[in-house]
This record gives sequence, C-alpha cells and structure tokens, in this order.
Amino acid sequence: MISIKNVRKIFPSKHGLLIAVDEVNLEIKKGEIFGIIGYSGAGKSTLIRMLNGLEIPTDGSVTVAGREISKIKGSELRQARQEISMIFQHFNLLWSRTVSENIAFPLEIAGVKAPERKKRVAELIQLVGLEGREDAYPSQLSGGQKQRVGIARALANNPKVLLCDEATSALDPQTTDSILDLLVDINKKLGLTIVLITHEMHVIRKICHRVAVMENGRIVELGQVLDVFKNPNQPITKRFVQQVT
Ligand code: ATP
Ligand code: MG
Repeated sequence: MISIKNVRKIFPSKHGLLIAVDEVNLEIKKGEIFGIIGYSGAGKSTLIRMLNGLEIPTDGSVTVAGREISKIKGSELRQARQEISMIFQHFNLLWSRTVSENIAFPLEIAGVKAPERKKRVAELIQLVGLEGREDAYPSQLSGGQKQRVGIARALANNPKVLLCDEATSALDPQTTDSILDLLVDINKKLGLTIVLITHEMHVIRKICHRVAVMENGRIVELGQVLDVFKNPNQPITKRFVQQVT
C-alpha cells in the first residue's frame, strides 16, 4: 500500500543544510496500523507529510496506493489526496462551521451533490459516535469530540490511507483511549491502512501492528510491536519501552 524508497528530505537552515529525513526505506501493508515513534525533531511529521505530498522528498520515491506521490502535481495530486487523508493534533477544524458542515466540507470540494452529502454526513456522524451534536460548533465540543469530527471529515471521501500526526497528543489518557478504540474500529470495519505518529509508547502498544523508531531522521528500529516490546535493541527504543512498563 505504501512504499518509501531511499527517501531523504533536506531543508535549508541558518546553520547550513538540515537533514530532516535520512535514507528511509519502509513498506507498509494494506490494512496495517503502523506506528512511528520518536522524540521531537526526529523527522516524523516530515516523513508522514511526504506520504500525501505536503512535502516533496529531496531524494527517493514515495508510492501510495499505486501512485508515485513524490512525482505527481496539481489535479493529479489533489485526486490522490482524497485517498490519503490526514488528522492532526489540533484538529484543524473550520471554527465557523458546525459539525455537519465540517464533515460535509471535503464532500463539497469533491463535487458531491447535496442530497448524497447529507446521507454521507449522517453515516459518518454515526460511525464516529457524534449523534445529537450535528449542529454544534467546534468551540462547543470537548477535545475528543473535536477529534471525532476530524476523523469523520478525514473519512468523508472513502480514503484508503489515514495519516495521524499526534492525533491524541492534546487529549487526556481516557479520551486518548476512546479515540484509539475508534481508529481500531475504523481499521477493522473499513480495512483502512493507518499510519500513526506519536511520542507515547502506550499508543503504539494499544493499537499498532508494527512500529518504526525514528532518531535524527533515520529509522533505527523496526518490527512487530510485541517483538519490539519484548526485545528492544536500541537505547532509544529501551527508553520508550520503559515509559509503559
Ligand atoms: P515533533 O515531535 O516535535 O512534531 P517531528 O519528529 O515531527 O517532531 P519534524 O517536524 O519532522 O519532526 O522536523 C524534523 C526536523 O526538520 C526538525 O529539525 C525541524 O526543525 C526541521 N523542519 C521541519 N519542517 C521544516 C521546514 N518546513 N523548514 C525547515 N526545517 C524544517
Ligand atoms: Mg511532528
């Protein structure tokens, strides 16, 4: 489903060139929940942003759902992005629109007609458990409810891949768990491939099948979550594992 080959991303900086992502190779399977963990500045967001063309690799190639994302532009990229949705730490909702209107927004952009939009929004509201809150504004919702709107909106156009950049980092532990349960539910019901970034190992343990540990732009450890927990090799992985044991 996702193939990352020899990818590097270099940014210009005050002190010369900054290598944000360095020689990353990664294959993520269809239907997998794949976690990427690392400390601040490790390159996690830069890597995930290359999966939907928000960043273009300096070197290497990124292929998602059969399309070479790192090569396409314009309308082709916009079309590809309907299949590769993203949710964010701070939800990125439209504050002047209601829950229903936020969820309908990507459908409007995709040219879905009003009656069908209404039906689809109702389905999505039910999927994420926001019945009764259709007409609320984001400012009237809890953090967990806001992220449910973010998830519903991300799923509106039936994507194949959902990218989650610290999607639970602004939430308390209980709300985090309920959002993670929702992601598992969606993964099972829709067969969606999920790539999730976090700096919390319990998030990885709770829902991910495999995990990559990133440090200084590189993947330093990669494996099945159970194996990595049982036998962490790198010092950084040991520190992450100690967070939860
Ligand atoms: P965090 O956990 O804090 O979100 P991260 O692992 O997501 O960190 P990135 O945001 O990918 O890390 O950043 C990796 C490195 O690339 C950092 O040193 C950052 O300052 C740099 N960087 C990211 N985006 C840009 C940009 N647009 N221009 C210049 N440098 C950037
Ligand atoms: Mg980040």
